Amino acid sequence: MSDYINVTEIFGCDVFNDSVMQERLPKKVYKELKKTIEEGKELSMEIADVVAHEMKEWAIEKGATHYSHWFQPLTGVTAEKHDAFITAPMENGKVLMSFSGKELIKGEPDASSFPSGGLRATFEARGYTTWDCTSPAFVRHDAAGGTLCIPTAFCSYTGEALDQKTPLLRSMEAVNTQALRLIRLFGNTTSKRVTPSVGAEQEYFLIDKEKWLQRKDLIYTGRTLFGAMPPKGQEMDDHYLGTIRQRVSAYMREVNEECWKLGVSAKTQHNEVAPAQHELAPIYAPVNIAADHNQIMMRILKKVASRHGMRCLLHEKPFAGLNGSGKHNNWSLTTDDGINLLDPGKTPHENIQFLLVLTCILKAVDTHADLLRESAADVGNDHRLGGNEAPPAIISVFLGEQLEDVLEQLISTGTATHSKKGSMLETGVKTLPDFMKDATDRNRTSPFAFTGNKFEFRMVGARDSISSCNVVLNTIAAQAFKEACDRLEAAPDFDMAVHDLIKEYATEHQRIVFNGNGYAPEWEAEAKRRGLPNLPSMVDAIPALTTEKAVELFESFHVFTRAELESRAEIQYEIYGKAVNIEAKTMIDIATKQIIPAVIRYTTVLADSINTVRAVGNVDVSVQLDLLNQCSVLLKETDEAMNRLSEVTGRILNVPEGRERAVYCRETVVKAMEALRRPVDELEMLVDKEMWPMPSYGDLIFEV
Ligand code: ADP
Ligand code: MG
Repeated sequence: MSDYINVTEIFGCDVFNDSVMQERLPKKVYKELKKTIEEGKELSMEIADVVAHEMKEWAIEKGATHYSHWFQPLTGVTAEKHDAFITAPMENGKVLMSFSGKELIKGEPDASSFPSGGLRATFEARGYTTWDCTSPAFVRHDAAGGTLCIPTAFCSYTGEALDQKTPLLRSMEAVNTQALRLIRLFGNTTSKRVTPSVGAEQEYFLIDKEKWLQRKDLIYTGRTLFGAMPPKGQEMDDHYLGTIRQRVSAYMREVNEECWKLGVSAKTQHNEVAPAQHELAPIYAPVNIAADHNQIMMRILKKVASRHGMRCLLHEKPFAGLNGSGKHNNWSLTTDDGINLLDPGKTPHENIQFLLVLTCILKAVDTHADLLRESAADVGNDHRLGGNEAPPAIISVFLGEQLEDVLEQLISTGTATHSKKGSMLETGVKTLPDFMKDATDRNRTSPFAFTGNKFEFRMVGARDSISSCNVVLNTIAAQAFKEACDRLEAAPDFDMAVHDLIKEYATEHQRIVFNGNGYAPEWEAEAKRRGLPNLPSMVDAIPALTTEKAVELFESFHVFTRAELESRAEIQYEIYGKAVNIEAKTMIDIATKQIIPAVIRYTTVLADSINTVRAVGNVDVSVQLDLLNQCSVLLKETDEAMNRLSEVTGRILNVPEGRERAVYCRETVVKAMEALRRPVDELEMLVDKEMWPMPSYGDLIFEV
């Protein structure tokens, strides 16, 4: 790698983007394809053939030998199957490189082993991947050589969504339709599309690969299952935004370069709160592209770490007692001509529209708080949500002091007469206050915060796809907009009707607004009093997917059918049960083969020392005796907890699959795991470090 990176030159150099298409495709073909991309017009096979041919020629120039339909099944990671471009050898033994429109548009991976939650019986293994031409294809370079990756959606033979992308695209349509209706009411006749824009800030940990190799828990589960706190944790706040170490800087530089080549606009990088924790944020993009880019980014973060002798941990809570990793999903709604519906505007009219959009979103989030919470449910995230350093598992909205003040005046007096100081924004309606554009002290503890011109949803886990939460955000916003438009379109006096509606929504959904400290224990009690749902575990959250309220919402906007929702709930339960089973078995393995033998060795050393020292004469051996005693007591506790964990883990597969098994895992197995961890972590503090069979937290996070 050279020292100098010419960013403008390399940016997007491996992407079949608009400028490449414009340059390489015949004019007519380019125009047709653009229509498909921008207006969703169907693509003819003739056009697809030409596009496929040019795409292949371009990819081969970039060094690609294979192509792959790249998709996001419900496993949480991306999937791909590679095909070489070669055709069958000709008589002279030579091959041609070919790629047809049909191959571009449609793929048929053997889908039987992807989770479908009963949607597709295994004997009906068919699933189709179809090209999502709104997200550009790219050539990825790795040990396998160059591969042309074609972003696709993945559906069953009968059209049910088996992936993350299909519902995301459907939800984008839903919110587009309703948001357009809304802005038309305010006199906008020019915008053609409203698209959710998302910027996903990605947190991760970096640790040394040699040390990682000595931790079976990290290898099998992505998180540490044992580990005592080091003398120093994150309490000094000296890591957050601290100077980035050289080894990490070199890593980040290469991550950026790889991201840029694939058109991922990696922009902000910094050290996070916990030692060894970092963050990378791209510039926001249309949500389906942002979702693809986030997957690409996670893969790059992992791949480059390997090259630098490190491992990148994307688990939500790799280390108990230290900050977990999340993904802050910054979400806004933007028109094709650049108007952000969440931006308080410059004219009075725009400000009224802004207040309506804002209160619609309050209504949406209050009505569907359970669904939004569910969208961030993930096995690893259970350890992060509700912890003392992460957003709690209760959904609330942070608006900032001034916006909240505006809403409160509206609610209490029906008219707002004053506004807190600042640069004024005029609303132009007498009964509404002029309010200022503010980015007040941004509340870091809120799970859903308004940050000036976007909402930041902070619950999503670091490993998770951002698709689920955006499907929910888009659809619940669509529903609120629809209800508002239904009312406003029928109203005789538009101005009065808007005013009443804003007041009504602000009043009815005020309970969801919370500007205080979301980490404070009092908040939990207060939230309960307000009737807000508190769903601390993934298992508690999953039922939100299949309530009548959810089915009605998603079916009415054609985002999910009831069957699709039920299958997703099934898959979530399955994933939970499997993950806990793996973690429990890993704990048993480590305790049996590594920890108990190490403690026995240490107690033997102590016993030998006691005998040897005593043989010398009348010397005090009380220290050794005391240590031996403590270790032996904890060893016994460990053994008992181990037996209990083995017993309950052994029964997992006897419990009926689905919800029942997930509940059993959560109620019984996870508790037994916690009970085993306690004595082991105490032992780690007593046993000679030389004899402890794995690197400690301190070794892992301070010695990268
Ligand atoms: P923070 O202070 O939380 O790090 P930043 O200003 O760095 O906030 O932005 C974080 C993310 O939000 C970035 O990915 C950025 O591109 C994205 N973002 C900024 N404006 C918008 C917007 N209008 N809509 C969606 N995302 C946005
Ligand atoms: Mg940030």
